Amino acid sequence: MLELTIEQISMGQSAVDKPAALQLLADHLVADGLVADGYLAGLQAREAQGSTFLGQGIAIPHGTPETRDQVFATGVRLMQFPDGVDWGDGQIVYLAIGIAAKSDEHLRLLQLLTRALGETDLGQALRRASSPEALLKLLQGAPQELALDAQMIGLGVSADDFEELVWRGARLLRQADCVSNGFAGVLQQVEALPLGDGLWWLHSEQTVKRPGLAFVTPDKPMRYLGQPLSGLFCLASLGEAHQALLERLCALLIEGRGHELGRATSSRKVLEVLGGELPADWPSARIALANAHGLHARPAKILAQLAKRFDGEIRIRIVDGQDSAVSVKSLSKLLSLGARRGQVLEIIAEPSIAADALPALLAAIEEGLGEEVEPLPAVSQQREVIADIAEVLSAPTSGSLLQAIPAAPGIAIGPAHIQVQQTIDYPLRGESAAIERERLKNALADVRQDIQGLIERSKAKAIREIFITHQEMLDDPELTDEVDTRLKQGESAEAAWMAVIEAAAKQQEALQDALLAERAADLRDIGRRVLAQLCGVQTPAEPEQPYILVMDEVGPSDVARLDPARVAGILTARGGATAHSAIVARALGIPALVGAGAAVLLLKPGTPLLLDGQRGRLHVDADAATLQRATEERDTREQRLKAAAEQRHQPAHTTDGHAVEVFANIGESAGVTSAVEQGAEGIGLLRTELIFMAHPQAPDEATQEAEYRRVLDGLAGRPLVVRTLDVGGDKPLPYWPIAKEENPFLGVRGIRLTLQRPQIMEAQLRALLRSADNRPLRIMFPMVGSVDEWRQARDMTERLRLEIPVADLQLGIMIEVPSAALLAPVLAKEVDFFSVGTNDLTQYTLAIDRGHPTLSAQADGLHPAVLQLIDITVRAAHAHGKWVGVCGELAADPLAVPVLVGLGVDELSVSGRSIAEVKARIRELSLTQTQNLAQQALAVGSANEVRALVEAL
Ligand code: PEP
Ligand code: MG
Repeated sequence: MLELTIEQISMGQSAVDKPAALQLLADHLVADGLVADGYLAGLQAREAQGSTFLGQGIAIPHGTPETRDQVFATGVRLMQFPDGVDWGDGQIVYLAIGIAAKSDEHLRLLQLLTRALGETDLGQALRRASSPEALLKLLQGAPQELALDAQMIGLGVSADDFEELVWRGARLLRQADCVSNGFAGVLQQVEALPLGDGLWWLHSEQTVKRPGLAFVTPDKPMRYLGQPLSGLFCLASLGEAHQALLERLCALLIEGRGHELGRATSSRKVLEVLGGELPADWPSARIALANAHGLHARPAKILAQLAKRFDGEIRIRIVDGQDSAVSVKSLSKLLSLGARRGQVLEIIAEPSIAADALPALLAAIEEGLGEEVEPLPAVSQQREVIADIAEVLSAPTSGSLLQAIPAAPGIAIGPAHIQVQQTIDYPLRGESAAIERERLKNALADVRQDIQGLIERSKAKAIREIFITHQEMLDDPELTDEVDTRLKQGESAEAAWMAVIEAAAKQQEALQDALLAERAADLRDIGRRVLAQLCGVQTPAEPEQPYILVMDEVGPSDVARLDPARVAGILTARGGATAHSAIVARALGIPALVGAGAAVLLLKPGTPLLLDGQRGRLHVDADAATLQRATEERDTREQRLKAAAEQRHQPAHTTDGHAVEVFANIGESAGVTSAVEQGAEGIGLLRTELIFMAHPQAPDEATQEAEYRRVLDGLAGRPLVVRTLDVGGDKPLPYWPIAKEENPFLGVRGIRLTLQRPQIMEAQLRALLRSADNRPLRIMFPMVGSVDEWRQARDMTERLRLEIPVADLQLGIMIEVPSAALLAPVLAKEVDFFSVGTNDLTQYTLAIDRGHPTLSAQADGLHPAVLQLIDITVRAAHAHGKWVGVCGELAADPLAVPVLVGLGVDELSVSGRSIAEVKARIRELSLTQTQNLAQQALAVGSANEVRALVEAL
């Protein structure tokens, strides 16, 4: 992004004329490695098309689109010419800003400059500036204005207490892009100031991007610190921007008119009283900007000139943008919009001139404002997945056999139900508001009826509830009111509906509350349903019998919503076996194949499919004999599982008497009951971050203690292995903002993160120790990569243990990072145990993102390189009398069980559903046989070879 800094400025330059100045600039850009030599020709060509003189002694020379390939890196260089350079037409330049940009980044620069361009006599001041700092200050211009408009006022908002009201105020500021995420938390720490008349004031400068004021009133009488509370101001403070407003507010309070604000029923009233930006009830019109490089200086100049012909006020804003409308007559204000191709502009004109001005301005914009414009394509709601792939691929034919990644075991047979989002094109403008309103009304009624059908058919309560929420959303008056406003402005029902849905979904996503933020997906879901109805696009009906769901990619929440009674199997074009969606599929017991390739999306709906989730095979329209074999196999497997289930509470010994413990992985405390019921001999991995995620904010020590107690109570003396909070990477915690990282998987996650926030870690450890009551508690730390991290975590725990003694406590680490495995001989002297997290260990060993849409197929934990690391770990542990568990997904893979047992792993921790099967598998093996197998596996070169060795066992 282009920003201005003092390093870019060269003071006191001189050039006899414009070509000499351009040469000088080009030399400078070349010398700094921003552009190639040929860029000078681009600068010259651009000036030949039209002067880049901006006004106020500033020119912004830049290349043409044809010379963009001469740009190596985006950047600017500023040259001060105190003697001036004639830029043509008698315009004198004192500052030339040479821009090297690959795209339209110079629009951003124009935005930065526009505040300065509004100043008088800037040119002379630039000429006289004696230092880069002074020059930069001049360019940064006047202080930013305080943002205060109707969108920043929330009247009668539902709030149960002061904190909630603060949160609502902060949210308005966030939506107006005045502050970053986390401002609500900042305000909660600030002491509120009572202003009298029931009004309260809060302000902070932290995380503020631009100054803004929000005002919120509660929907019911409220008190705070013993005083009435009828309205709250939340100020995002920056510099002096709020000074004038504060003075007006003081005057108002002195006049005893403060209660007018608390009682206001319209934002207009509040703005009138405070002197904010009044919403204009003027006629308006909208148009999408088609100019290739947006509203840059030349077209903006033409638009401003045209507007000046009308004797009255005309404003313009970007629809869905954050900024308020600006005068079309001001070039600098127009440039400050930074409007790009494709953005929709709204032009608002004073009623006396609107009838003439609006059509004239619309026509001028449509014609390109002096530039040749390529018409914008019709709006497409979705990337055209099917059409793209159909060009290069064809659907698998009848009888074909495809190999994919086994993600959840089991055999599933059923018709294909393809769920791919199709492109839906729709017009932006409608026929008339009345017609569009009627169309939307009918579409909403049809969708409501469809959803009612789904509610009646769904057996699972959780799924029914999702659809009931969808119906409520369809009836939400806030949505329909906003759509209606857009219809009145001439938008089509489709465009208005989708714009409102998208805006609401974005707002929802920005919330601090994870559960509420999830509603964004629901909003988009109903948004698409209604759009499809409006455009007459048929969504394939769900087959009556259990079907195989075919999707491009499937998220964990998609899987969680599935009704296992209707979905016999899952097949995805992309994804990998350790992606969290695959983990959820396994937990639900739905056979799944992932990463089958894009061609499966071209299957005809209803094509009979046979899916083998164990071997990773997909048969398309299989012949009768294959189906017969598969059905028999499925039945045998079911019988085997039934027999295994009967033995689930028995320990697992190999045929030669070697015991391997089988524990369960759980993510919520309530999961302990079914884990024990399914035969778990303990909990081998309690993913505590899932407990944190299930709470709208970080659970305090007491809440955590209750959760951990519940697990230990449920275990009735069996051991509990708890992993301390593991967030970051693929596990975000919505209310715990983590600085954005280029590569979060290699960033601050797991133990690195919690060691940086010791109070959170200490609270968790205290809660754990308190919950133990001398029952067997094992605590392990995630993502440990160095001995030092382990020691810090251990020392912290031991210190707390002095305070809260626990008799049966072991401390260990997860082996998820290759460095930890390689250091196992050192670590084994100090830890009590290791638990191998094969999901992450595989990812880091093979350098393949575990959720990578195409590569994760190769992230197979049976890769000999991963097995070598497990071997090192087990040997080191056993040499010091310590035990090793495996709690990654590999532990439940029937082909991996013999290898892990052969490597000497003492405990396997798997999802509850897999316990009986894993135990049964162990009982079929002899230790000697598995040890031989493991040695062979360590000696081959690929995961496939290892799998082949096991198959041959
Ligand atoms: C692992 O990485 O193998 C593991 C068990 O942890 P998670 O899947 O929660 O990252
Ligand atoms: Mg992990």
